[in-house]
Amino acid sequence: MRLISALIVVGAAVACVSPNSQAAQEQSSQAVSDAAEPFRVIGNIYFVGGQYGSYLITTPEGHILHDTGSADMHPLIVSNIEKLGFSVRDIRIMISSHAHWDHVEGHAAMKRVTGAQVVALGGDAVALESGRDNSAIGARNFEPVSVDRVIEDGDTVSLGGVTLRALWTGGHTQGATMWMTTVQDGGNTYSIAFRGGEIPNAGAPLANNPRHATVVADTQRTLQRLRELDPPDLFLHNHPQDPPQALDPALPVDPRCATCLDAEGFRRMVARVETTFEAMLQEAEGNGGQ
Ligand SMILES: [Zn+2]
Repeated sequence: MRLISALIVVGAAVACVSPNSQAAQEQSSQAVSDAAEPFRVIGNIYFVGGQYGSYLITTPEGHILHDTGSADMHPLIVSNIEKLGFSVRDIRIMISSHAHWDHVEGHAAMKRVTGAQVVALGGDAVALESGRDNSAIGARNFEPVSVDRVIEDGDTVSLGGVTLRALWTGGHTQGATMWMTTVQDGGNTYSIAFRGGEIPNAGAPLANNPRHATVVADTQRTLQRLRELDPPDLFLHNHPQDPPQALDPALPVDPRCATCLDAEGFRRMVARVETTFEAMLQEAEGNGGQ
């Protein structure tokens, strides 16, 4: 019975799982006034987001935007892109970390401005087109946006000599995607991964969840993939780290980057979320009346 009551509990508006980012999300409206300055992170990758880590990947043939943030962050992201000297009208492709409002609520507005192609994977494409959050936690809904290209695990997006490869990490949302690429900077090549998501939000029902019935298996598969992955030289999170992580000094990254993790930071993050998910599973089993 306790399990049934747990299923009825719908998560609050908090969309991402990092305890460090929870407070930031609860201050969503404040985030707009706390306008983070845009800057070049590394190579052709620029930080253009406020609290929610949006990135612009520039190419000679137009740009790729990764995450559009919440709807109220749209003007900030537009002005940040223009401040860097780029035009939002040159954005050709929009991709995302995962279909939670704090990362994709701004998609519809950004598509109206840019006419860019929206690319999304599986269940996240369903969420974007319906505007209904279909993740385990059931966070708040958002303005629907049409998806121009529905991709599968391993598919790539290419523009102007840049290629990003999609790695499905569907534990956090059904189509959470870690986008991977390489950049040149200072004569060296660096492997880059943009965070997708790892495990369900705290409080998400794990058993018989009607929104995401395979959430446990999908999370276990996600964690296995992340554990077995050769860690990227640079992992670009979609929330600032508090405190910002110390980085490998060999990485030519702007020191203002609060969303950057190096390979060791990535390993630590994976280990941490694995421990967290084990505890969530144990708690779910306890609620099941064992
Ligand atoms: Zn999230």
